[in-house]
Amino acid sequence: MADAAPPAEGFGFSSIAIIGIGLIGASVALALREAGFTGPIAAADRDDEALHAAVELGIATTTHADAAQAAAEADMIILAVPVGAMEPVACAIGPVLSPRAIVTDVGSVKGAVSRTVSAALPDPSRFVPAHPIAGSEQSGPRAGYASLFRNRWCILTPTDETDPSATQVVADMWRAMGSNIEVMDVERHDLVLAITSHLPHLIAYNIVRTAYDMEAVTEAEVIKFSAGGFRDFTRLAASDPTMWRDVFLNNRAAVIETLGRFSEDLAILQRAIRWGEGDQLYDLFERTRAIRMGIVEAGQDTAAPDFGRPRPAAEERHRTPVPEPASD
Ligand code: NAP
Repeated sequence: MADAAPPAEGFGFSSIAIIGIGLIGASVALALREAGFTGPIAAADRDDEALHAAVELGIATTTHADAAQAAAEADMIILAVPVGAMEPVACAIGPVLSPRAIVTDVGSVKGAVSRTVSAALPDPSRFVPAHPIAGSEQSGPRAGYASLFRNRWCILTPTDETDPSATQVVADMWRAMGSNIEVMDVERHDLVLAITSHLPHLIAYNIVRTAYDMEAVTEAEVIKFSAGGFRDFTRLAASDPTMWRDVFLNNRAAVIETLGRFSEDLAILQRAIRWGEGDQLYDLFERTRAIRMGIVEAGQDTAAPDFGRPRPAAEERHRTPVPEPASD
């Protein structure tokens, strides 16, 4: 059980357990340290190498192979395992939780996680589902960094049972890490994320598969000539297989709904190309360019060409053949 230590200065809790010390879990630990959290941070993971890295990186006070052991001593428990592992972890820690402990998560799907974790915990009023809209295609604690959540959104989806004071503590924790907070209901979250994140990943996985499976184009050519468009899809398609398998299995309805809309719109584009309807193509591309500008203006991406990838220095440019800028 958690000791009766007073909350750390500026935080509504005194000790943290992070279950799953991968990219997101490690980044949370680093960000909270940078924000001035000085209390103990217990890290639990089923992967020995992740625990070993957490020690080496100095991001955990103690490490545990057993999630319950880490959670028993904490009054803020952050579940940062893949979505499919949230329920078993909640079942494992439920019996040892302090009555005043707050449990939150970082899962990319909220409906399934809210339902199953709430049901597994002894006091669902202390559970605050959350999703930081920040991350990368990399995994593991060594990929984590303190500024990952800075100026990014963190969506909270408190349930009807969630105690508002617990939501406040979790919101303040994410604000301390530099995030902006949005509160949403779970259905809306899962629909919005299906179109802004889940579908783009599905398309990326599929386009990379199609390119590699095209018998008329060799694998070597796909790699050699992969300019901006395809290369950017390969970044998404390199994302963690476990994480994304769990996202699709746990957000089925919203993903299938958005995939249906996407397929209909794609058929319209196919028809426009077949019948040479250039005006229709141009109008759409003009609209989508304006959407991209809106994302840049909202501070969610850089306006620099090629996503700000560094260009070779002038001297380098003379020595190294620079690929033509992507035109696709
Ligand atoms: P990650 O780097 O792969 O880390 C997850 C860690 O949890 C791994 O070390 C994994 O071990 C461990 N784990 C899996 N099942 C476990 C269990 N039952 N008990 C204890 N440890 C367990 O993943 P991540 O990218 O940090 O993602 C973590 C969560 O954040 C996911 O729910 C994801 O949806 C969410 N999220 C991710 C991103 C992103 O861009 N990556 C962004 C926002 C939210 P193994 O390697 O042995 O499986």
